[in-house]
Amino acid sequence: MFKKYHIPTESAPSKKRIGKFLVERDLDYCINCGDCIKACLYDVHKRRQEDVRIMAEPDSYKCKGCFRCVIECPQGALSLHDNPEFFKLGDSYYIPKMIKTIWNEAENGRVPVSGAGYRGNFSGPRFDGIWTDMSEIVRPTRDGIHGREYISTAVDLGRRLPYLKFDSNKNVEGVPPNIEIPIPILFNPPPHELNDKTLQLIVANVATKLGTYAIIDADDYQELCNYNVIPRFSSDSNLNLELVKRAKIVEVDYRRNLMEDLRLLKDSHSDILVSIRIALKRGLEPLIMDLTKRGAEIFHLYADYQGNEFEQKPRFITDSLRSVDDYIVDYCLREQITIIASGGIGAAEHVPKTIACGASVVGIDIAYLIALEIGQFDTHIQRFPPIEVTDMDLEWGTQRIINLMNSWRDQLLEVLGAMGMREVRRLQGETGRMIFYVDEEKELYDLVGL
Ligand code: SF4
Ligand code: SF4
Repeated sequence: MFKKYHIPTESAPSKKRIGKFLVERDLDYCINCGDCIKACLYDVHKRRQEDVRIMAEPDSYKCKGCFRCVIECPQGALSLHDNPEFFKLGDSYYIPKMIKTIWNEAENGRVPVSGAGYRGNFSGPRFDGIWTDMSEIVRPTRDGIHGREYISTAVDLGRRLPYLKFDSNKNVEGVPPNIEIPIPILFNPPPHELNDKTLQLIVANVATKLGTYAIIDADDYQELCNYNVIPRFSSDSNLNLELVKRAKIVEVDYRRNLMEDLRLLKDSHSDILVSIRIALKRGLEPLIMDLTKRGAEIFHLYADYQGNEFEQKPRFITDSLRSVDDYIVDYCLREQITIIASGGIGAAEHVPKTIACGASVVGIDIAYLIALEIGQFDTHIQRFPPIEVTDMDLEWGTQRIINLMNSWRDQLLEVLGAMGMREVRRLQGETGRMIFYVDEEKELYDLVGL
């Protein structure tokens, strides 16, 4: 029987509890009337348990900054301030607002709602310079993301046939090995500095529960081989064919003698899928075309943690992907291969935008570390402090990432529904469904002769 894909969410409250605002009650003015309890929809104000005549300290973490209590307090006893701790979070890429959004998503698994109207900028750098074309959002037949019309977020890993060929028994011939995953998201290994067993177990556990995969170092495969994991052989490690005999997919860093290694893998396990991991740089297109023609099936193109190419003057991941996509479309190869893209994917909207620029699947890394509230970090210099991962509660950590994925999937469904698309597979390389600020600006300037 047909079963809709469902992600089980559950509350997994924050342990750090750093909110954007600090709510202050001036005890010299407060008369403990309790009007602020009624004014606040988010339970910030409560009475003390030990003495209900007196108001408790406001639970600032829950405050959304609507100012209603401040306005309604008859004594003018309440004030709202920015929380300096909040503005110290993250770095120039993972800004505090992004971190807070991930924390909210990881806490309850819901789509974040920020109130009436959007108060931010309408364009910005990187992903903020891409707008999704939601022109179908007004169609009256739409009945919500969980309505009658099922929207599929499933994607395939592996090579696809360019056309069907049948044998004498009318069976399709030469179907390559292929794996379907229900969401277009994989988990990258955590940075080496955080090479922690608990963290690996949490990510492997999440991948298995969601039906997708976590990429891990091949050295750790033995311990995690019962989970949905993809062992990765870095460029300086030798293939261990015996080790990966239970694996369905392996990842191999681009290296000398790559094709020989691929042949060895395929000879020893004919159904195994091999993903070739390549750092994003300029001029990759002919290499990808060449490898595709020689039988490569999956490419993992990775940028740095901020989504930049590994270049002196890097392009952003979406620009690199568009360039690769244009090239392989010209040679009619795009439909045959899977492209995993990772680096800088830190918000739900980054998933459809990356896919529309040419990825089939995205890989996430920093986003799940943020969901787990793992220390301060600076992705610009890629330095991670030694942190308290070992003490992390496995169930809590697993649920936080599952919640995050549910929220991102629901937002992906919203975007697809608003675009009038019934499956995410169709979004791959659909740049026509996106509006690129730089392109629009150029067109305008050309029009007015600037
Ligand atoms: S509404 Fe103002 S005066 Fe009344 S309890 Fe709240 S802070 Fe105190
Ligand atoms: S500002 Fe709004 S959300 Fe914050 S405590 Fe007051 S009523 Fe609640």
